[in-house]
Amino acid sequence: MPPFPAAGRVYLVGAGPGDPELLTLRAVRLLQQAEVIVYDHLVSSAVLEFVSPAAERIYAGKRRNEHTMRQEQINALLIKLATEGKQVVRLKGGDPFIFGRGGEELQALAAHGVAFEVVPGVTAASGVASYAGIPLTHRDYAQSCLFVTGHLKDGTAGLDWPNLVRPHQTVVIYMGLGGLPEICRQMMAHGAAPTRPIAVVQDGSIATQKVVTGTLADMPERVAQAGLKSPCLTIIGEVVKLHHSLAWFKPLLLHTVR
Ligand code: SAH
Repeated sequence: MPPFPAAGRVYLVGAGPGDPELLTLRAVRLLQQAEVIVYDHLVSSAVLEFVSPAAERIYAGKRRNEHTMRQEQINALLIKLATEGKQVVRLKGGDPFIFGRGGEELQALAAHGVAFEVVPGVTAASGVASYAGIPLTHRDYAQSCLFVTGHLKDGTAGLDWPNLVRPHQTVVIYMGLGGLPEICRQMMAHGAAPTRPIAVVQDGSIATQKVVTGTLADMPERVAQAGLKSPCLTIIGEVVKLHHSLAWFKPLLLHTVR
C-alpha cells in the first residue's frame, strides 16, 4: 500500500472567450491529461476538442435562467471527485476569477482540504475587445477601464452610475444584454451624452461573432433589430469609435480559411 492515498486535485482552468487558439499552454496540457472535465455552458465546442477522449465529461450548465446544476451541487461534485483521487479540470469560460464564481468554488475546496491550482484564461473583456478591434485603453480616449456585471440583482441598485459615466474611461459590461435598455437609460440619466459610443459583441472570437455599434441613445433599438443573443459583451466609451478602422477579424471567412 502506498504511504498516502492517491491525492486528487482540482485544476480551475480558464477556457478563454471561444477561439481555442487563445487557450494557455497549461490549459491545453491539463485538458489532455485530466481524468474528469467539469465544464460550463460558455466553454466553446472548439475548446472541448482538446479534451482527452479518455476523460469523463460532465456538463455543469450555467446558462442564465437554466442552471443545470446549482452551485452547491457543482461544489459537492468537485469535492467528491477529488476525494476519490481523480485529477479534475474545472473548465470555465474566459478567466475563472472574473465573474466566474471561481473564488467560491475554491473556497468550498479549501474548506474540505482539497488541493487545487488555478490557470488563468483570456477574459471576455480582453479577448472579445481584441477580436472586435476595440482597444480598451488608448492615450487619446481612455486612461482607465472598468469591468462590471450587468446582471442586476435588484434592478439597478448594484451599479455605481456616477462612477460609470466618468469621461476618459472605458466601461465593459459582462452579462448586460437583458439589462441594456436600463443601462443606457441610467448612463444618460447620470450625465453621459446620448452620443457616447457603445458596442455590443455577440460570440466574440468565434465564427458567429457579431459587432453592433451605436450610441447610448439608439443602442437598445439597434441590438433588438440585430437580434443579438447571449453571450454578449458591452463596451462603452470613445474607444468604440476605433472599431471602424481596426476591426480585423472576419468571422465568416474563418470557415474557408481554417
Ligand atoms: N469568466 C468569464 C465571464 C463569465 S460571465 C470571463 O472571464 O470572460 C459571462 C459573460 O461573459 C457573458 O454574459 C458575456 O457578457 C461575457 N462573455 C464571455 N464570453 C463571451 C464571448 N465569447 N463573447 C461575448 N461575451 C462573452
